[in-house]
Amino acid sequence: MEQVDYIIVGAGYAGIFFAHQLIKEKKSFKIFYDGSISASQISAGVCNPVILKRFNTFWKSREQTDYLDIIFKEIELYTSKNYLINENVVRIFHNDSEKVQWTKNAQKEDLKSYLSPDFITLEWVENPFGAGKVNQSRRVDVSNFFLDMFKYLEDNNYLIKEKFEHQIINNEENSYKNIAFKNLIFCEGVASRKNPFFDRVPIQPNKGHCLKVKLTGRPDSYIIKKKHFLFGVGKDEYYYGGTYDRFDQTGDINQNSVEELKTGLMEIYINDFEIQDVNIGFRATVADRRPILGRHQEHTNLYILNGLGARGVYNGSYFSKVLFDFIENGLKLESEIDVKRFY
Ligand SMILES: Cc1cc2nc3c(=O)[nH]c(=O)nc-3n(C[C@H](O)[C@H](O)[C@H](O)COP(=O)(O)OP(=O)(O)OC[C@H]3O[C@@H](n4cnc5c(N)ncnc54)[C@H](O)[C@@H]3O)c2cc1C
Repeated sequence: MEQVDYIIVGAGYAGIFFAHQLIKEKKSFKIFYDGSISASQISAGVCNPVILKRFNTFWKSREQTDYLDIIFKEIELYTSKNYLINENVVRIFHNDSEKVQWTKNAQKEDLKSYLSPDFITLEWVENPFGAGKVNQSRRVDVSNFFLDMFKYLEDNNYLIKEKFEHQIINNEENSYKNIAFKNLIFCEGVASRKNPFFDRVPIQPNKGHCLKVKLTGRPDSYIIKKKHFLFGVGKDEYYYGGTYDRFDQTGDINQNSVEELKTGLMEIYINDFEIQDVNIGFRATVADRRPILGRHQEHTNLYILNGLGARGVYNGSYFSKVLFDFIENGLKLESEIDVKRFY
């Protein structure tokens, strides 16, 4: 039987960032990945410390923004690449009163480092009221991040490309098939609703659609946001998305969502564009808008890292470290995020 410190189930942002903590701390582990395209892999990868509806910030945004640089520098040490792209989010204003609100909020202590007081005008999209720039916002090079991380995990014999079956865990021996583990971390996104150990955790799937589109003309490199995010990913190739839908839980493309995206894009880009691809994914959201992490109440070496919501990069990176410190270094979990709140 092979002995490992950890088994991780799931290889989206939660699983991959937790794997990073283990690589950094030289722990032995196996990570199970069932091969399906995760929400993480189709995400925009935008890391934005500001809620763009009302120009507020959110719980732990400062800590998360600061930690992003640290974790991606650590990852760079073994992949030789930095996946953080320094393109800022610019929010197109709907009207003048939004500008007034932005200016007001830009003076607040917790927002002044984020909301640039100088408005800009974008050359190639419709923005009659101009746009505001969010300092310290970035995005992750999502496709290369997952490509390289999977390769690294595979090359170093960490990755097991198969579905993890909960019912064959041996809780007496702390083993799964021929692997004996000290701790097991479930990072399953919305699939955790089928996990018999954490089935009381109220994950609500929120379906998102996004597009790959072909369009021309891009003199500046920003992540443009009006209704959705628009940014370039290759020559004339753009990402546009995503939608939010709490009701449709089918795995099919929903034409209403595609229409919503087309309409949103046409509002800012008046020339023709070609839709090259439509992707969908399910965000694992929680009603109290806090991630879920912690220990199973009975099986004390089983853990969960989930509920990353619409902020997979921020939450996954930051809370992977919080969970690691809880397990290995005895640090306390704040009650807002502790899975105990659902027992
Ligand atoms: C359209 C869209 C755009 C988004 N844009 C952004 C963005 O710009 N910025 C941002 O920060 N976040 C964004 N998100 C949110 C982000 O994608 C999620 O928060 C994040 O993907 C959640 O990561 P996760 O690891 O918890 O779950 P997932 O990404 O769903 O990963 C879970 C993984 O576990 C695997 N798995 C589950 N059960 C098993 C099993 N039994 N055995 C083996 N493997 C298993 C699944 O197949 C999957 O690969 C977006 C989401 C969507 C849908």
